[in-house]
Amino acid sequence: MNEQITKLVQLQKLDIIVDDINDRLKEIPELIKEEEDKVSRENEKKESVKQDLKDIQVELKNRELEMEKIESDINKNKRELNTLKSNEAYSRMHKEIGEKEKKISDLEEKILECYDRIEEKEKELKNIESGIEDIKKQVKENQEKYRADGEKLKSNKKEVEEEIAPLKKEIKEKLLAEYEKIRKVRGTALAPSGNSNCGGCYRELMPQEINNLIEGKIVRCGSCNRLLYIDEKQNGDL
Ligand SMILES: [Zn+2]
Repeated sequence: MNEQITKLVQLQKLDIIVDDINDRLKEIPELIKEEEDKVSRENEKKESVKQDLKDIQVELKNRELEMEKIESDINKNKRELNTLKSNEAYSRMHKEIGEKEKKISDLEEKILECYDRIEEKEKELKNIESGIEDIKKQVKENQEKYRADGEKLKSNKKEVEEEIAPLKKEIKEKLLAEYEKIRKVRGTALAPSGNSNCGGCYRELMPQEINNLIEGKIVRCGSCNRLLYIDEKQNGDL
C-alpha cells in the first residue's frame, strides 16, 4: 500500500480516538450537573412535604377553632334551653343543638384525620432528610469519579496527540490538507476498499481503481472523495 496512505490510516485511527475522547470529555460536566440535580430534586421534595405539613397544621388549627366556637354555642344554647317558654321554641332549640353536635362529631373525625396526615407527613419528611444525606454522599462520590475520569481522559488525549504531531510531519502537506478537508465534511477521510466497494459510501470500485490501489497509487473515491486504502483484514476480498 502507498506509504503515505499507510501513515494517514494510522493518523485516522488516532484522530478517531481523540474524537471519542473529546465526546466523552464533553459529557462530563453534564454528568456532574446531573448529580447536582439529584440533590436539588430531593431538597425540592423536602420543601414540598414541609409545605404540606404546614397546610395540614393550619387546617387542623382552623378546625379546632371552629369546634371550640360550636362547643361554646352549644353551651350557650343549653343554658338558654331552660329559659324558653313555649314548647315550639324549646324543640327548635333542641333540634339546633342536635345539628351542632353532629357538626362537632364530623369535625372530630376531620381533626383525627389531620393528626394522621401530620404523622404521615412527618414520617415522610424524616425519611427524606435522612435519605438526602446518603444521596449527598453518593453524589459527591460520583462527581469525584467523573472528575477523575476527566483527568484520565485528558491525559490519554495528550498521549495520543503526542503521537499525532510527529506523524503529521511525515505526511505531505498537500495530502494532509486534503485529509483534514474530507474529514471535516465526512467525519472520516479514509475508507477501506473491502469487497471491491468504497467502505465510506459503498460505491462499487472499478477494476482500474482496484489495480491502482494494488500498485500503491493514491486513489480517491469518485463519489464521496474519500481516500481509499486496502484494509489488511479484508485483503483477500479485494
Ligand atoms: Zn466513497
